[in-house]
Amino acid sequence: MKVITEHVFSNLICKVSENYPNCNIYSHWKTAYKKYITPINCVLYAAFGVLLAKNISQICSVFNIEEVNIQLFFCLVLIAVVSLITLTILHESIHLLILPHKIKTAVIVYKFPFSISVEHCVWLRKSQKLFVLISPVLLISFFVIPFFIFHHYLLGCWLVVLNISLAWSDIFSFFYILKNIPRRALMFGNFYQCQR
Ligand SMILES: [Zn+2]
Repeated sequence: MKVITEHVFSNLICKVSENYPNCNIYSHWKTAYKKYITPINCVLYAAFGVLLAKNISQICSVFNIEEVNIQLFFCLVLIAVVSLITLTILHESIHLLILPHKIKTAVIVYKFPFSISVEHCVWLRKSQKLFVLISPVLLISFFVIPFFIFHHYLLGCWLVVLNISLAWSDIFSFFYILKNIPRRALMFGNFYQCQR
């Protein structure tokens, strides 16, 4: 498994697609994605900000820190960064484990400045692509349920917000592909070809 940049990965997809003159591109979903997802993410983070502000004394007692001081600010930033990195690694690892042939066909794509994603370097059936896309958000949601059962609502909500904001492009692609790509199609990057 290699680590490559987004630019190298796009070139790789274009090169492979040149060998399949009948394949089609489906990149136009990106415009709709940008239009809807950024505002939804902002609302999610704002909602979580309100939740944090309301429960600030609870957070302070959990982490044994004094309220309304600089230490609290750095602790909150640290909690946010650590949970974001942990959840990103977990999310991408699930993609990797769900991929057919796993490590052999996968590449890690690095996007400037701090983003990584696991991509596949083989043609996948539509059903496989859908399964790979939706697995992380479903599995992580499953593991968040106990936080609500045992009344850790704040932590549960934080994980739900992070999980959804990390998986928006997957959720969006899932429904776009489900609705618009033919059932027997093979998919590679943002190209697809219909099987005869
Ligand atoms: Zn993903």
